[in-house]
Amino acid sequence: MKASEKTEEYKNSGLYKLRHSLAHIMAQAVLQIRPNAKLGFGPPVDNGFYYDFDFGQEPVSSDDFKEIEKNMKKIIKEKQAFQTFTKSLSEAESMLDETDQSYKIEYAKELVETGKADNGQLNFYKNGPFVDMCEGPHLEDTGKVPKGSFKLDKIAGSYWRGDEKRTMLTRIYALAFENNQELKDYIAKRELAKQREHRKLGSELDLFYIDEEVGVGLPMWLPNGTVIREELEKWVHEVEFKHGFKRVSTPIITRASLYYRSGHLPYYKESMYPPMKIDDKDEYYLRPMICPHHHKIYDAMPRSYKDLPIRLAEYGDVFRYEKHGSLSGLLRVRAMCMNDAHIYCEPQQVEEEFTKVMEMYKFYYDKLRLGNFRVRLSLHEKDNSKFVNNEDEWLRSENIVRDVLHKNNIDFEEETGEAAFYGPKVDIQVKNVMGREETVSTCQLDFVMPERFDLQYTASDGTQKRPFIIHRAPLSTHERMISFLIELYGGAFPTWLAPVQVLLVPVNETVMEYVSRIKDQLFEKMIRVEMDDSGDKFNKKIRKGIVKKIPNIWIIGNNEMEQKSVTWRRYCVNEQTNSSLEEAIATVVRWRDTREMD
Ligand code: ATP
Ligand code: ZN
Ligand code: ZN
Repeated sequence: MKASEKTEEYKNSGLYKLRHSLAHIMAQAVLQIRPNAKLGFGPPVDNGFYYDFDFGQEPVSSDDFKEIEKNMKKIIKEKQAFQTFTKSLSEAESMLDETDQSYKIEYAKELVETGKADNGQLNFYKNGPFVDMCEGPHLEDTGKVPKGSFKLDKIAGSYWRGDEKRTMLTRIYALAFENNQELKDYIAKRELAKQREHRKLGSELDLFYIDEEVGVGLPMWLPNGTVIREELEKWVHEVEFKHGFKRVSTPIITRASLYYRSGHLPYYKESMYPPMKIDDKDEYYLRPMICPHHHKIYDAMPRSYKDLPIRLAEYGDVFRYEKHGSLSGLLRVRAMCMNDAHIYCEPQQVEEEFTKVMEMYKFYYDKLRLGNFRVRLSLHEKDNSKFVNNEDEWLRSENIVRDVLHKNNIDFEEETGEAAFYGPKVDIQVKNVMGREETVSTCQLDFVMPERFDLQYTASDGTQKRPFIIHRAPLSTHERMISFLIELYGGAFPTWLAPVQVLLVPVNETVMEYVSRIKDQLFEKMIRVEMDDSGDKFNKKIRKGIVKKIPNIWIIGNNEMEQKSVTWRRYCVNEQTNSSLEEAIATVVRWRDTREMD
């Protein structure tokens, strides 16, 4: 099913009607305590509905929720019928003017002017004393709202029409479900999700830090988080080495002309930072993508069919202007480090190379236990200026990618308008614990850049030909990937990724020196080890280690010292085991070396 069909299905559902009706009920209830409030929009959303208000000088806070909910219950008891009627623009204007609903008037005009109102007629719904311009559908009457099916949730600021230059309205969010049980289940699930949320864990586990003075969307990686980045990167270097990738390194700022050539200017301009003037003549940009640099490296010397495929890889920093409201912890940031690579190949190699990339994805996903995803084939949209204008090439390359997916028995959903400006993409979409879906991995076929960069190779028949380019970023950016991994593991990383791999807990003073020698031994083997030599009781030391989600806690007392053993407590496993010290060290080293998902 396509996303648009899902939306259609939702719109015809009882739940949608319920949420829509509740939005009207809430607006009426709010007007009872703030009669002068002006109304913005009030649509259903995934977990309920919201309504935007302009409260002027009389703000509303969550302290008012109780009263609003009480009013809503009264309105529900009154069984107010939802009745619909239409009005012409001038009739609508004078009616809305009576209650000073200037936002509604603005929108009414827009609907009529843009031809979105049927025959110029605007649709209204009335229940009790409350009238709202709205398309419906609604319940028959307010009495049909199931008991305990809704709850006011939170307040947020929101610009009218999402435009930062317009008034900031107050958005009241509410949760609403078919019945009380479903509402309760949702709230419980959300509470659990919040515990795993990467921003919360990121701060509890000292993984990263965002400082307003450094800038929003510009996270700084603390030592613990940097460990995870570097472990992933080490792993990727090995995997890419085995897959025939060659690493390169390129600068993060670049002359404007490069981006005119690539087409990032103008196609990608909205996501780029303003240019810097250097030497009073040239404009330079912070790079939003690495591709153009790699194309230049390809073009730096003559290439022959014998050299192809050429696979250039770089874990590189890129900078993108992302809207303030879309930023979220590490999930969407403005400075990021991307697991990027570009494959230059002959046309007849595209299928095999694309397939190999998909296999590499599978390898990564299996290893990391990232099981919950959907594959999206992202296509261009005809006559949309966001995409390079070449319908034939679009269809041709989209077919190639679709074919590869079919041949590899990969289930996927197609979505138009999600392609890169230069070609179709296979995107792997993952939802985070809060239900927000983002692209993690992407693999793209590019028919535009070879032309724009005049890339060539000498074919076997001696003629000059254009290569194809595959762009791929299986592990996304460190930022986004790690945000998902934090939530996937609930902050409890497997030993090979864990910031602290072993915590040593000496039970008493007598063993202290012995344990510190074990620490040296582990250190020598490059195991990230910590020893708790504080004066705390050993039970407390263990609890501290558990809070930090350290995968291996080794408890050592007199017995262990005598027997050269450790009492080993794994994270989240209650029973402890005894192991010889030698064996314990060897095991942890092996887990590290083989990247065991212990
Ligand atoms: P999105 O649609 O998520 O904005 P995109 O399609 O513009 O991403 P690409 O240019 O394909 O992104 O970048 C490769 C990968 O980098 C994406 O698949 C995504 O995983 C990651 N990524 C992109 N933008 C961000 C960002 N602002 N913060 C963190 N990671 C990002
Ligand atoms: Zn409505
Ligand atoms: Zn690229």
